[in-house]
Amino acid sequence: MRAARRILAALLFAKTIIEQERYTGTATLRAERSVLDEHFMRIALQEAEQAAARNDVPIGAVLVQGGKVLATRGNERELRRDPTAHAEMLVIREAATALGGWRVPNATLYVTLEPCPMCAGALVLARINHLVYGTPDPKSGAAGSVVDLVRHPALNHRLLVTHGILAAECSEILQRFFTSRR
Ligand SMILES: [Zn+2]
Repeated sequence: MRAARRILAALLFAKTIIEQERYTGTATLRAERSVLDEHFMRIALQEAEQAAARNDVPIGAVLVQGGKVLATRGNERELRRDPTAHAEMLVIREAATALGGWRVPNATLYVTLEPCPMCAGALVLARINHLVYGTPDPKSGAAGSVVDLVRHPALNHRLLVTHGILAAECSEILQRFFTSRR
């Protein structure tokens, strides 16, 4: 039983690698993807700007399904006085409500900063297909920096991960925010 489970985990892991390769694809496909990725990341950055304007740490997220934007939100932790009101949680909830179920299939989540463990867990639970983040979070990133919950071989769902999209802008907006508060 245990061995069977291990084999299944290994197979699922191999499938993720193959899908990741397929996504990376040809140079032309890569170029097209990166134009799209930058387009949606700019929307996430606008949400981050709006968060900063209301004294929330500037992080923004956009959830896209089939090229269509399902939800865009910024971090609202201060606004709602809610420790779980991260941008990713808000777009996942909004999209699930709009779709009428708890799954958000065939979707890509764009976020300016690498997700924390809570949000990474929510991405897995919502069965999001693809995560695109701007800048890594070496202190609490849960998509590879501190832990990797979105590609964990023991979990029943794994995401494709792309990072470094508009990384400089995504990191600068955070640095500016924290410098101005010192
Ligand atoms: Zn989070």
